[in-house]
Amino acid sequence: MRAIVDEETCIGCGRCVEICPEIFELEGEIAVNKLGEGIDIPIQYESACQEAAGECPVEAIAIEE
Ligand code: SF4
Repeated sequence: MRAIVDEETCIGCGRCVEICPEIFELEGEIAVNKLGEGIDIPIQYESACQEAAGECPVEAIAIEE
């Protein structure tokens, strides 16, 4: 599973960072995937990552299986 943040859509609310700080962090006012978008999310963080995507108010996080 991979997680991709659409930086054009992200409003920098920080919700994904609160939910899954192991994967997401804010760089300025944009959230980024710390691992890199081409890297598989470690299995122990998958559910938090999916929750973060679901909680994003602007649906800026895409999850790819
Ligand atoms: Fe950006 Fe969505 Fe994360 Fe908020 S929850 S910082 S809008 S990606």
